[in-house]
Amino acid sequence: MQIYLNGQLVSRDDAKISVFDHGFLYGDGVFEGIRVYGGNIFRLEEHIERLYESARAITLEIPLTQAELIQATVETVAANGRRDGYIRLVISRGVGDLGIDPRKCKRASVVIIVDSIALYPEELYKKGIPLVTASHRRIPADCLDPRIKSLNYLNNILAKIEATNAGCPEAIMLNTQGRVAECTADNLFIVKRRVISTPHLVEGALAGITRGAVLELARAAGFVTQEGPMTQHDLFTADECFLTGTGAEIVPVVAIDGRVIGAGQPGDVTRQLLDAFRELRLKDGTRVDYASS
Ligand code: PMP
Repeated sequence: MQIYLNGQLVSRDDAKISVFDHGFLYGDGVFEGIRVYGGNIFRLEEHIERLYESARAITLEIPLTQAELIQATVETVAANGRRDGYIRLVISRGVGDLGIDPRKCKRASVVIIVDSIALYPEELYKKGIPLVTASHRRIPADCLDPRIKSLNYLNNILAKIEATNAGCPEAIMLNTQGRVAECTADNLFIVKRRVISTPHLVEGALAGITRGAVLELARAAGFVTQEGPMTQHDLFTADECFLTGTGAEIVPVVAIDGRVIGAGQPGDVTRQLLDAFRELRLKDGTRVDYASS
């Protein structure tokens, strides 16, 4: 495995970051998770755009232009010869002192890891999964905007622990108003009378790249889509429910907090969107030239 670390490709054993890096000390940084499908990096430019927006929101200067980071990402995928997998881009504040002042960190650290991905078993796409609602609420935007994909994931991790304890692969997170925000690492959708809805971003959701692709696919297929407030009542009375994310793609949800959703099996609309997404993922993105590395 070859890892991009501050402009150089190094082996896994040599890919080391200082313990004085504020990414390690304080979770001060931003990241992206991206998929490679058949030599195609899915929506790379959108991921890079979101990364730079997250960085800007925390006044973190990425020491590369967007074009340079795209090139470095493509080259790292090619150097690893990986046609299907997962890319992790991490930009941390860099090396500083033990105080939190980011001005002490003179240069951000840039890391690109290309690895395999642990997928949900195919059976779950056929049977659907149960979710539980976490007691931990999503951090409100006036504390730390959930639209920033930062290295601070403790809020999500605490909710994920609740999911695991309840025997569920994911948990729903409500915002501090008690409305649905998203899951711990996925966005959430419902279908009611063939209208496809997902919480608005101001409810405390990340602007998921998969979420955006699914909204586009739904509209292209003639569905009405809605982004607005969503309550637990909306979930419990939905015809269908599914989650979306880079790793998950589109996973049907068949139970929430022990209640059966819809008919208790993956719905037709969910299935149709998953099929459409699986077609899109091979086409929509940046092609890697493996011969050049
Ligand atoms: N919400 C959160 C909190 C996430 O971490 C992720 C995964 N990055 C998502 C939603 C889904 O976003 P995407 O489709 O871009 O992977």
